[in-house]
Amino acid sequence: MSQQQWSAVDGYFTDLLGADDEALRAAQRESDAAGLPPIAVTAHQGRLLHLLARIRGARRILEIGTLGGYSTIHLARALPEDGRLVTLEYAPHHAEVARANIARAGLVDRVEVRVGPALETLPVLEAEDGGPFDLVFIDADKDNYPHYLEWSLRLARVGAVIVLDNVVLGGDVLDPAAGGVRAQGVRTTLELLAKDPRLDATAVQTVGDKGWDGFALAVITG
Ligand code: SAM
Repeated sequence: MSQQQWSAVDGYFTDLLGADDEALRAAQRESDAAGLPPIAVTAHQGRLLHLLARIRGARRILEIGTLGGYSTIHLARALPEDGRLVTLEYAPHHAEVARANIARAGLVDRVEVRVGPALETLPVLEAEDGGPFDLVFIDADKDNYPHYLEWSLRLARVGAVIVLDNVVLGGDVLDPAAGGVRAQGVRTTLELLAKDPRLDATAVQTVGDKGWDGFALAVITG
């Protein structure tokens, strides 16, 4: 199979199943125009996040890694009117683009974008009693994934869902020497998922518009 075929199938699914709409396409367009890197989830991955949040009945969602707010919009649309999503972003320019995209999607009432290194904004969130969260989506710097998983366990309730993106990294997960600190961060996180008795987890490979990657999915059991 080639990248061209993976993208064609993604396109077919998008047209058939309506995984995106004008607000989501506008968020992508504006993110591209503002020079953000093309590393958001695909339409179907976003839709999967949305469905997971709905299946979980999530009322509070935490996202680590906002970029232009594309996955944020998918997730926030799963919330009830009084639901809340907090998304953490390091780069002020990314946060600014995300805020505009979120406003255009009509979601300002339930989404808050916080700027700064997540390892600094997470303790603030805890001090404010910002949780407990029903779903956490981890999609920022891979070398800090082990810390983000620990923070998820502190801030999310029993029964919460944790989704970790990019756990395959085009196969680098098997080759940390080639994949560097990113692959090492992912491997350490997968080992934590495997051994922590409070978590039941799996990992799934994916292909599509963004090439070969995958996500890990966990539920907090205790
Ligand atoms: N979740 C987004 C989506 O699918 O639309 C994509 C997020 S992108 C893969 C990762 C984002 O994490 C980037 O915008 C990057 O600036 C941000 N990031 C990187 N390191 C971070 C850190 N230490 N704290 C918070 N955000 C960080």
